[in-house]
Amino acid sequence: MLTGTRVTIIGGDARQLEVIRHLSELDATVQMVGFDNWECRLSGVRHAELNAETISQTDAILLPAVGTDDTGRIDSVFSAKPLVLTDELAKTASPNVHLFTGMAKPYLRTLCERHSIRLTELFDRDDVAILNSIPTAEGALMITVQNTDFTIHGSRSLVLGFGRTGATMARVLQSLGSKTAVMVRRPEHYARALEMGFTPFYPDSLADEACRADLVFNTIPSLVLTANVIAKLPAHAFILDLASKPGGTDFRFAEKRGIKAMLAPGLPGIVAPRTAGKIIGETLSQLLVEDQGNGRDSS
Ligand code: NAP
Repeated sequence: MLTGTRVTIIGGDARQLEVIRHLSELDATVQMVGFDNWECRLSGVRHAELNAETISQTDAILLPAVGTDDTGRIDSVFSAKPLVLTDELAKTASPNVHLFTGMAKPYLRTLCERHSIRLTELFDRDDVAILNSIPTAEGALMITVQNTDFTIHGSRSLVLGFGRTGATMARVLQSLGSKTAVMVRRPEHYARALEMGFTPFYPDSLADEACRADLVFNTIPSLVLTANVIAKLPAHAFILDLASKPGGTDFRFAEKRGIKAMLAPGLPGIVAPRTAGKIIGETLSQLLVEDQGNGRDSS
């Protein structure tokens, strides 16, 4: 239980509603900022403003998937009011405050360092990233079906990257009957991909593999789908770039060549906000329980 733990949720989307429900069930005291359009009747939950009083009276802060932009602005789909985490506000945080977000941009990292605020990037954690890969892969399939005129079954897919998202994507494609080749750069990943029934290959073979690809799913956050590679793809091929912005595709060249290519960020929050919120809520509450324990040990 989180009785006595004060959590402030600032901004976000439908995922945060699930997190707030979960925290309320665990008896946390929740202040929510930027949820003006949500009439909430959950116990222990109240609306608050983004000010020094709110920030100073909290043990933990949860920011959205991308914590802030490069100017401190926090996204909130439930409020028209701008929310900005300024230096002045961060200064008022209590010394033991723990700030959580999906991923932090340099602005937020610097702010936390400057004010000695403990920062946890939830999407960096393997448990969160692996669970998030499930709605990501489902969303990728949805977009693929909507943007192609052939079945995934019987197609040839390339999955670039064999990390937490790539491995799930490859497994899901294979289970739908797509002949799936996976680009890896480590021998142990090559061996694992082979063992799992995929066709592994190294980056230096990408252009050759591209000649036979119907579908390409990129999970590598650097430019891998270069003009050179895109030039080799068949005209009907579809590229879905799942890597974080700006992705790893030369979109300008893909357009010039008439190859359909899309960047699809934030799929868990779009296709399965309840599941994605549950993943965040359960991990967050587990970490807050650990914080409670650490606090007791040191007292
Ligand atoms: P991850 O577990 O770190 O996997 C990344 C993979 O890319 C690893 O296999 C890594 O290889 C490989 N890689 C990295 N740089 C490479 C390079 N220059 N050349 C070849 N391979 C390279 O990351 P993840 O959790 O799967 O996430 C992948 C990306 O998807 C991230 O940008 C993440 O933000 C994004 N993402 C997007 C969504 C969405 O909704 N679109 C959802 C979740 C995640 P090594 O293992 O050899 O390093």
